[in-house]
Amino acid sequence: MQDDGLYAALVRRGMTRRSFLQFSAAMAAALALPLSYAPRIAAAVEGSKRLPVIWIRGQACGGDTEAFLRSSDPDTVALFLDVLDIQYHDAFLGVAGGDAELARTSAMDRYRNGYFAVVEGSIPSGASGAYCLIGGRPAADVVREVCAGALATIAVGSCACDGGAPAAGSNPTGAGGVRALAGARYMALPGCPVNPVNLAAVIVHYLTFNELPPADLASRPLAAYGDLIHNQCERRPHFEFGEFATEWGDEGAQRGWCLYKLGCKGPETMGNCPTVRYGEKTSWNVRAGHGCVGCMTPSFWNAMGPAYKRLPSPVPFLPNVTVDMVGGALLGGVAGVMGVHAVGMGVRFKRRRMIAAHERAAAVPLGPLPPAVGDAGRRSEPAATVGLAPAEHGAADEADGRPDAPVGREGR
Ligand code: SF4
Repeated sequence: MQDDGLYAALVRRGMTRRSFLQFSAAMAAALALPLSYAPRIAAAVEGSKRLPVIWIRGQACGGDTEAFLRSSDPDTVALFLDVLDIQYHDAFLGVAGGDAELARTSAMDRYRNGYFAVVEGSIPSGASGAYCLIGGRPAADVVREVCAGALATIAVGSCACDGGAPAAGSNPTGAGGVRALAGARYMALPGCPVNPVNLAAVIVHYLTFNELPPADLASRPLAAYGDLIHNQCERRPHFEFGEFATEWGDEGAQRGWCLYKLGCKGPETMGNCPTVRYGEKTSWNVRAGHGCVGCMTPSFWNAMGPAYKRLPSPVPFLPNVTVDMVGGALLGGVAGVMGVHAVGMGVRFKRRRMIAAHERAAAVPLGPLPPAVGDAGRRSEPAATVGLAPAEHGAADEADGRPDAPVGREGR
């Protein structure tokens, strides 16, 4: 295939300008960027060369590769087959054995520090790596070698991220994720399988900004794994109204009610399945009637099982206590503490108001000074208080001929 850039490759594949811009807008949405970034993404993709990829498969069912190949979304297929320059993938090579290994090593030399290493499946360490060999060598050795010369490593699917199904239970092969073998630039895209849109978004982010997207502590891109599935689920209103399916096929299940009581792990799982969906964005498992199994959670086979029950009790010797009940109790405790605090604050507020009222009362001016001796007001005082007989009092007023004349001191 000619290597004259991504846009030319997409046009050759029949992608119109309109669908290319729609693709750019969809990538902006998948990266949780404002729509205004779509032109910048389009310009970056237009001006980029196809990105070389070496795709290694360890202990895997092939589901992640299938997710791409079976996708009927033309944008994603175009990305996989045209935007990416797949230099090595054991399922796509037209050769096998030593020639296949030669294809890989020559691509590593040709594009050193310029290709993406995509790893699918877990890597076993048991029996000196004999459980999974690539070209007769332990997969761990080959993966370490490929990742060392890569621009970045992307683990696709839960098995590549933390061991997945091969690491479940007693983990007989010593299966683990790729993290320990990858370099500093590493991104995990868990899921069973990975959603191809998320891989496309990571690659487009790299092409646009020349770096991997922001990630959480598990190296998962925040744009795809930054919110609970439960918060985005279309059945959420039924959860809020207490409308649950309690048996598979019952009336609640048929009416699309919440699957929480049938073991849905949406409230404990971070991911974007409800928004990106699968199969031309038509559906995802909860929409199709099956609860979320938590496949994007680290070590989900062990941590999120059993699939059709709520998570087991986290409290020793109390098997009937669920994680949700503990969460509810904690919430109740917090609410109780806040209630007590609120009451205490109310009492303090009331007391402060009373104190302030007393202080205001004490600070009120005493009003006009008492009238000076002899003021008219004093004249109205009962005679008994001034020590004069009423007759004497009136006589005193009349004596000086001034009706308002002050009463003499002796009159007080
Ligand atoms: S079906 Fe699952 S993810 Fe959806 S609202 Fe119910 S518990 Fe949450």
